[in-house]
Amino acid sequence: MDVTIPGALADHLSRANLTTGPAAKHRAAADLRIALNNARRGRGRTLVIPAHGTGVLHLISAFAEAILENRKLHTTAEVRAARLWIQRAGHNPEPAPQAAEPPHRGNLADTVACPACHVGVGAPCITRAGKPAREIHSRRVEALENAAGVTQHRAEQKRANGGLAYGINHAAESELFAAYAARINPPAQAPAVIRDKQEQQRAAETRLDLAEEQAADAFDAAAHAVEAVEYAEQVEASVATVEDAEALYAAQLITEAEATDGTWRGEWIGEQPDALFPAHPDREQGSLFA
Ligand SMILES: [Zn+2]
Repeated sequence: MDVTIPGALADHLSRANLTTGPAAKHRAAADLRIALNNARRGRGRTLVIPAHGTGVLHLISAFAEAILENRKLHTTAEVRAARLWIQRAGHNPEPAPQAAEPPHRGNLADTVACPACHVGVGAPCITRAGKPAREIHSRRVEALENAAGVTQHRAEQKRANGGLAYGINHAAESELFAAYAARINPPAQAPAVIRDKQEQQRAAETRLDLAEEQAADAFDAAAHAVEAVEYAEQVEASVATVEDAEALYAAQLITEAEATDGTWRGEWIGEQPDALFPAHPDREQGSLFA
């Protein structure tokens, strides 16, 4: 996938220290360095880089966000380029949330009613005064351990150990809690720990494919907008928004097409130069409406 970076942002990236600077810590820093080394010039001062994966794009978004957060330290062209990039490529996403907490006593306790304070499934324990209890009642934890098979497991271990108590087998109890969580939850919401690893992998790959498709679409749009803004800069037009730039660019493309393709309008105007339009198009507004 080729990605077009607006000129001023490209210049800014080229000056950034991606080897030992603050951005060097980003997981895509090395990839961006390579991409910039392999870049080619696009229209105007734009830079076209080969970008594999979304990490490089996110890092560029991080640079663009930094420019927008510190506008006063940057030129108008840099701010405009950064805004254009964010508009088209999106923000640097927040880091992925941590994997779901594995099921355990604490987060499964409310899946059973509390025999002590009598709150039902899903409700937190309460004090006698009806206020939130500071801790889950121990009898509720016992009820949970019974439901999850932890109590039975301990009894079996104790029997096997000749009737002597033994230390808690945390790994075995975690598995029992996970299995219990899977039994009480619909399969789609089963905790990640008990899901088939391959299924997780496939889901992650599908999400990644989708994200890359979306990024590719976004950059098709961005490439056009970048060209438009570069064009506006070249002709020194004063455009306030990307949309203005695109409109100007589209108008120019139509004008070029009409000038070269001999459209009906061009032919018609050519045949009848004086019928409607003045001889000097530069002054047409003045001569036509004076
Ligand atoms: Zn309770």
